[in-house]
Amino acid sequence: MDFSYDNLTVDIWLGDAAQSLSKLAIERSQQSAPQPHIDAWFLDGFAPSCNSTLWADSIFTQMQRLSRPHTTAATYSCAGIVKRGLKEHGFAIKKVKGFGRKREMLTAIMTDTNHIDVTSDNKSCDNESHDAEQITTDSTFNHTAIIGAGVSGLLTAWSLANRGIAVTLLDKTAPLAGASGNPRALLAPKMTPIHHVDEHLHTIGYLYSSRLYRDLNQKATQLNTAPVLEPTGALDLLVKANIGTEQIADYPDEMATTLPHEQAQNISGIKEQDLSENLYLPQSGLVNPQALKTIILTHPLIRFQQLEVSEINETEQQVCIEGSDQNQETVSILADHVVICAAFESHQLDKRIFDCRKIRGQLSWFHPSLEQLINLPKIPLKYSGYCALFNAQTGDDNLNTVTAGKPYLLLGASFIRNDIGTDIRDEEHQISRDKLVAAIPEMESIMPADTSLWQGRAGIRTQTPDYHPIVGQLTNSQRIWTMSAMGAKGYALAPICAEALAGMLLGSFAPLSNAMLARLSPNRTRLQTPLT
Ligand SMILES: Cc1cc2nc3c(=O)[nH]c(=O)nc-3n(C[C@H](O)[C@H](O)[C@H](O)COP(=O)(O)OP(=O)(O)OC[C@H]3O[C@@H](n4cnc5c(N)ncnc54)[C@H](O)[C@@H]3O)c2cc1C
Repeated sequence: MDFSYDNLTVDIWLGDAAQSLSKLAIERSQQSAPQPHIDAWFLDGFAPSCNSTLWADSIFTQMQRLSRPHTTAATYSCAGIVKRGLKEHGFAIKKVKGFGRKREMLTAIMTDTNHIDVTSDNKSCDNESHDAEQITTDSTFNHTAIIGAGVSGLLTAWSLANRGIAVTLLDKTAPLAGASGNPRALLAPKMTPIHHVDEHLHTIGYLYSSRLYRDLNQKATQLNTAPVLEPTGALDLLVKANIGTEQIADYPDEMATTLPHEQAQNISGIKEQDLSENLYLPQSGLVNPQALKTIILTHPLIRFQQLEVSEINETEQQVCIEGSDQNQETVSILADHVVICAAFESHQLDKRIFDCRKIRGQLSWFHPSLEQLINLPKIPLKYSGYCALFNAQTGDDNLNTVTAGKPYLLLGASFIRNDIGTDIRDEEHQISRDKLVAAIPEMESIMPADTSLWQGRAGIRTQTPDYHPIVGQLTNSQRIWTMSAMGAKGYALAPICAEALAGMLLGSFAPLSNAMLARLSPNRTRLQTPLT
């Protein structure tokens, strides 16, 4: 949960406390990255006599691991087991007057320095304020440059700026010029059986994005701009899903459910097809990239600059980014850190970033007649492709060939490996039409047969061999980071990955587990062998 006006983020870890604490990463990818730690603990378990697990040795061990000298702890419990646990794990304890009606309580302060990595950045230890505040007053973190203003770059800028960091966002063309600039993106998860969700990036990313975009809708209302998320819900026909109806039943209905056949027909407007096998996603919707960009670029700490970056040079003190602007003039920018968010072109900017698979995709759309409109699916549908009706908003025409106020049916998308052309191809309009008709045969008579007048946009997906994005600091670098390889789900993955990257860069905790961060690392084993 983000309370950006108060520069406050709350991460809630659901699960056993000791296990969850053990997932918090303090190991840094590089010695130079700041190490996160806890400033203050509040121990609010029930009395040890009725809830012993919250006062077990495993909890105190984690507290010691995650604390720094001067980390404080407080608890209303003065039980012997609590006092002993804290003392044995490096805390000096003190009994003080209790809060409110409590007669007494314990306060504690970490004094043990033995377990602490002496090479770590402990500048903040003699200061009890919040991480982000410490960091923003430290000149090492004042200014970050981000290369690439697609959804990855925009969300990274948002996460950093909300922590008080000034961001220069660079793009060789314009924000959303790459794969992120479709008229709408479908926000939908890749599902997994529910017992895997706590380590499933797609689920965590989807739930976080869905909340963030809804929050940004409130901002859009204040700014009188188009909503970021059109909360349509979506119906997956389970043509290509990796989950069946039995596993869907394990999910809370507000996240995923199977609708009764008739209700699925009513909600989708599909009349003839058997829809008894379906996955309904109430929190899903259509993201309006242009609206997202508009809001992010209103942040006072984010400045956009057009620059085609050609070189990045890192010194001990800073990083220098060089490139040419719209007038072909050479421009240099100095920053404390740089984050490369240039998708498939990231590798060209720094060879340490894996040279990913490039997969061309074309999205198609057309303006339906009134008769077609009433017979087309009413909510976004997923099958081997996807389709969604949307109404073009003011601003959409800056990016794509649409007319504000008119409805369109969006159809996606083609997948052509090792092709980085972005020309619009009629045969790929046909592919998307064929996918829809194969999934819902009654659409054959409704969809225009002639696709030659359809509009489209082609972009390049960037994919790693293990399908995970690349998020983190580059090997042997102090100041160069990357967030790329969002594959086919950038709008669901970028927000949580950006939060993780901001956490790592600023030395605060990332909202993802140790194991997950290792799976996203630019230096992971799977990325050591080039694609063939
Ligand atoms: C047809 C299609 C349909 C899709 N549909 C969906 C969907 O419905 N839902 C969803 O979640 N995802 C979807 N995706 C995937 C999603 O679009 C991507 O995952 C996402 O856009 C990747 O964002 P990005 O910011 O990493 O890359 P990009 O948006 O490609 O941004 C990279 C930016 O880097 C800039 N750049 C590159 N080199 C330089 C340089 N040297 N100097 C300065 N700037 C540079 C480029 O100009 C570009 O703007 C779709 C993708 C395609 C192709």
